Order: sequence, then structure tokens, then C-alpha cells
Amino acid sequence: METKSRFIRVRCEDCGNEQVIFNRASTVVSCHICGATLAEPRGGKAFIKAEILEEIE
Ligand SMILES: [Zn+2]
Repeated sequence: METKSRFIRVRCEDCGNEQVIFNRASTVVSCHICGATLAEPRGGKAFIKAEILEEIE
């Protein structure tokens, strides 16, 4: 299945903060509240380390 560029809503596993991030982030995405890493760039596609709540078209 092809991975589309889209935004996803995730929940930080450390503090429970919900945040919308891009699934093809080219830089590390950190939680706005606690600074935990939510996503890391992996060859064009972000590796999501947080809990994924929903994908947003
Ligand atoms: Zn957090």
C-alpha cells in the first residue's frame, strides 16, 4: 500500500499531549509539551514513535 503524504493526529506516550504532525516529516518532531520525540525522518517517510489516533485526509 502506497504511503500518502498526510497529517496524522498522535498522542505523546510520555505526557498524553495530542498533536497533529506530518507523516513525511523531514526533521525530528518533538512534543510541544514535554519535548519527547514523536517522529523521526526515515528515508522520506517519518517513523512515528507516538500513539497514532487518526489520519487526516
Ligand atoms: Zn509529551
